[in-house]
Amino acid sequence: MTCIQNNFKASSIVKILLRSLMVLIIIHIFVVHFINDIMKNRILVTGGTGYIGSHTVVELQNSGYEVIIIDNLSNSNADVVDNIEKVSGIRPEFFELDCLDYNGLDQLFTKMKGIKAIIHFAASKAVGESVEKPLLYYKNNLVSLINLLDLMPKHGIEGIVFSSSCTVYGQPDELPVTENAPIKKAESPYGNTKQINEEIIRDTVASGAPIKAIMLRYFNPIGAHPTAFLGELPNGVPQNLVPYITQTAIGIREQLSVFGDDYDTPDGTCIRDFINVVDLAKAHVIAINRILEDKQKEKVEVFNIGTGIGLSILDLINAFEKSTGVKLNYKIVGRRAGDIEKVWANPDFANNELGWKAGTSIEDTLLSAWNWQLKLRERGIQ
Ligand code: NAD
Repeated sequence: MTCIQNNFKASSIVKILLRSLMVLIIIHIFVVHFINDIMKNRILVTGGTGYIGSHTVVELQNSGYEVIIIDNLSNSNADVVDNIEKVSGIRPEFFELDCLDYNGLDQLFTKMKGIKAIIHFAASKAVGESVEKPLLYYKNNLVSLINLLDLMPKHGIEGIVFSSSCTVYGQPDELPVTENAPIKKAESPYGNTKQINEEIIRDTVASGAPIKAIMLRYFNPIGAHPTAFLGELPNGVPQNLVPYITQTAIGIREQLSVFGDDYDTPDGTCIRDFINVVDLAKAHVIAINRILEDKQKEKVEVFNIGTGIGLSILDLINAFEKSTGVKLNYKIVGRRAGDIEKVWANPDFANNELGWKAGTSIEDTLLSAWNWQLKLRERGIQ
């Protein structure tokens, strides 16, 4: 009898021990998961469903960052979030929110604690429209940035990467253009917002705000993700050259106009520095690492993000035809007001100090843009 009782006691003790062990394991898994969750660096990407933003979200996720997107969808669609997930395998948190909504941003930062840095893409970007609607551009592009800078210290957000542009150089006196070249009077309200935003960032940091900033001056971003799940989706008639080329090649547009062949360049057409969008996206990840790892030499830094290669418009058309095998219907027309004759980057500072270099060939980049256009047709878009 005593023997049976002892056995019974022993098996009860074993059961209790096993149960306690299970509870401990579950608590352990829960705690580890929770700690991992709060340790993962959270990055806010404004304008993250847009062209450059969506590619950058993927590169951030590939590098282990947890990404939160806000976008007011004024120039993009929410289904971009699905496509980001298809590429990276991770669904980013997405909030439909306007950067002009100060209280909305404040509430978001309170809810999504632990955001370490912001990449600020959200802006209106059509040069022509900015001439017609300057106040819309000044309000959207300036107030959005001011709201973010104002809220960052309150929520302990250390750094911001800002999307600037080579438009700040106007027609540079010396080529290739370095970051030290003088800023020329802007040709449009859009260009002016980039110049003023750079000054707003400098003045805010100089005032002692606990903010670190990197301003990336993009040259001409083109191309799409090699998976063809992400790319540039212009609203209406494209403002940028490559979507116009691919839309003409696929038959949506009848003919491409090349504006002017009497410029002081080898073939008479304008020269630009075309940068692959995935290469550009990677520059943002490096900039974020630099801020979070405290590697900056100055609290505000500026880098040219270009290839260092100037290609004429006719060079680009030839490269498109060569890499895709598709003939392009184009004609030379008169010059267009406001076009800069030639500009390309000196990317030495970005190459040597930031540790970033453009790597994708122009042929692969143009092929990716073409594959994106073909995929859009498959999806019944345009
Ligand atoms: P995009 O229009 O594709 O992306 C911008 C995104 O911001 C869009 O999804 C839009 O809906 C969103 N947005 C606009 N205003 C907003 C607001 N107030 N609140 C929330 N979301 C808002 O443009 P893009 O080509 O990806 O450009 C991104 C950034 O890079 C912009 O700041 C642009 O000025 C700059 N930039 C672009 C180029 C270029 O050629 N694409 C060149 C130099 C600089």
